[in-house]
Amino acid sequence: MAGEPQADCLFCKIVAGDVPATVVRESQEIIAFRDINPQAPTHILVIPKAHYPDAAALAAAEPQLAADVLVEAGEVAAEENIAPSGSGPGTGYRIVFNTGSGAGQTVFHAHAHLLGGRGFNWPPG
Ligand code: AMP
Ligand code: ZN
Repeated sequence: MAGEPQADCLFCKIVAGDVPATVVRESQEIIAFRDINPQAPTHILVIPKAHYPDAAALAAAEPQLAADVLVEAGEVAAEENIAPSGSGPGTGYRIVFNTGSGAGQTVFHAHAHLLGGRGFNWPPG
């Protein structure tokens, strides 16, 4: 059934507590934890506990939950002091959903990367 835990999914194992993670925020539906290989001073993954392979599948099946992931990411950003508060490097953040292996997705359980604490280039590369 859509959204059910998958035995071979790393993030379902984190949700279940079978794989350890540094959790920074948790609600009934969502968990946020630090990325094990951070690409910025703040790099947190915000995920729905329900299993969907990517952000589009999540949004199609449970649009409110997809929106809640974004709200949660904003709240984590505020807690981490990376919410926009001026101009220049280190203020503001990126939320990234890699979708498909060609775009760098390696874990096929929908997750938002919340990145901040440094400057960013555009285009992102
Ligand atoms: P993606 O490449 O967009 O699918 O993102 C997967 C992310 O999960 C990568 O940034 C990895 O560094 C991160 N990751 C992999 N294993 C773990 C883990 N056990 N705990 C925390 N983050 C992880
Ligand atoms: Zn999963």
